[in-house]
Amino acid sequence: MSARLLSGREASGATLIELASVVEALPFCPGLVFVRVGDDPASASYVRSKSRLAARVGIRSEIVELVACTSQEELLGIVGSLNADPDVDGILIQLPLPDHLDSARILEAVEPTKDVDGFHPINVGKLWSGEPGLVPATPLGLVRILDHFQIPVEGRHAVIVGRSNLVGKPAAALFLRRHATVTLTHSLTRDLPSLTRQADILVVAVGRAGMITSKWVKPDAVVLDVGQSRVGGCLYGDVSPSVAGVVAALTPTPGGTGPMTVAMVIHNTIEAARARRIGGE
Ligand code: NAP
Repeated sequence: MSARLLSGREASGATLIELASVVEALPFCPGLVFVRVGDDPASASYVRSKSRLAARVGIRSEIVELVACTSQEELLGIVGSLNADPDVDGILIQLPLPDHLDSARILEAVEPTKDVDGFHPINVGKLWSGEPGLVPATPLGLVRILDHFQIPVEGRHAVIVGRSNLVGKPAAALFLRRHATVTLTHSLTRDLPSLTRQADILVVAVGRAGMITSKWVKPDAVVLDVGQSRVGGCLYGDVSPSVAGVVAALTPTPGGTGPMTVAMVIHNTIEAARARRIGGE
């Protein structure tokens, strides 16, 4: 038997159509600014594709491109002026930043109501305490994929592999909010396969191509593969293709969790704009 494929392209396509109609009904046009430092071509192309997608949904977007030697003070100054600009609803600092910049300080300088990445400590605290706030796009996309394919979360055991601030920790908070029982694992977890084999929902966000094999999963599991490793020009997930022969459902790579992340950045921009301009709904 082969697993049901949870296509992120399908789920994000449906989400973007919904978001475009939300934007159309707004009395204003939300504005998103990407800030990118340095000349990494992959990061430049990723930002351009997010910007094009924003335009498709009816969002104004601008890319601020800064030279690699931009100083901390210069970058903080730019973030400060974007914070103060009433036409800017969302600010996205493209990571990673060059080594001489203090990423944590820069992210903390973003006005929390415009923090469409959901990385600001205020938004992190809101997520864990169950208050409304902006939630990191990748974990938000995971829950959206499950919703799109009508896969219930409540009462299920969600095992998350990887505890980064970007994916693992906010995913744990979101799944807890949706009433899953959550196990959060990492590189020092003992006997990881014995835990992944208990997962009703398995989220893998490590960055080690094919680390989850068919022996690490149980037959009725739903597997969300976040990992993305580029090997010889091809993109691989953290989940070995052999897992598809065992589990109930699985996101493909490419075309799984990645497209949903981008859609959720757009979603967050609309939420940020609504909350700031009309007090949310
Ligand atoms: P990260 O910050 O490097 O975190 C990786 C996590 O994996 C860490 O918590 C680490 O544990 C854990 N880990 C490493 N080796 C492990 C092992 N052998 N067993 C169990 N856990 C292990 O990475 P990230 O930013 O979360 O990204 C993870 C992956 O997701 C990357 O491939 C990235 O490209 C991808 N990603 C995809 C999307 C998407 O939209 N699909 C979005 C963001 C990221 P410790 O904390 O103990 O070190």
